[in-house]
Amino acid sequence: MIKSEVRSDSEMSVRWAALRRKFVEVSGGSDSVRDNLNLEPGGDSMEHQVAGFNRDLAVQQLEARARLIHDLQRALEGIQAGTYGICSECEESIGARRLDAVPWARLCITCQGLAESAAREAA
Ligand SMILES: [Zn+2]
Repeated sequence: MIKSEVRSDSEMSVRWAALRRKFVEVSGGSDSVRDNLNLEPGGDSMEHQVAGFNRDLAVQQLEARARLIHDLQRALEGIQAGTYGICSECEESIGARRLDAVPWARLCITCQGLAESAAREAA
C-alpha cells in the first residue's frame, strides 16, 4: 500500500522548467534529421543503399522525436491538471528518482518493466 506522495509546488516548478527546456530543445531543434529524408539517391547502388539507410534512420529518429514531444506535452499538461507523476497504468506515484532521470515518464518503474518485457516478447 503506497500512498501517493503529495508533490510540492517547488518540485513541480522544477519539473515544469525541465520539461519546458527539453520541449523547446526537441521541438525547435535542428532540422538536420529532416534533411536526411530529402537525400536523393544517386545512380550508384552503394549510394542508393546508404541513402536508404540514412532515410530509415531519419524516419526512426523523427518517430522517436515525435513520441518524445508527445510525452513532453502530456507531462506538461499533467502538471497543470495535477496528474503529473502518477503512473497511467497502476495509478501509483512514480518515484522521484525516476522522474529526475526521465521527467516525462508516464509509467512507474514496475509498469515500464512490464511494458518492456511485453514488447520484447511481441518482437
Ligand atoms: Zn505503474
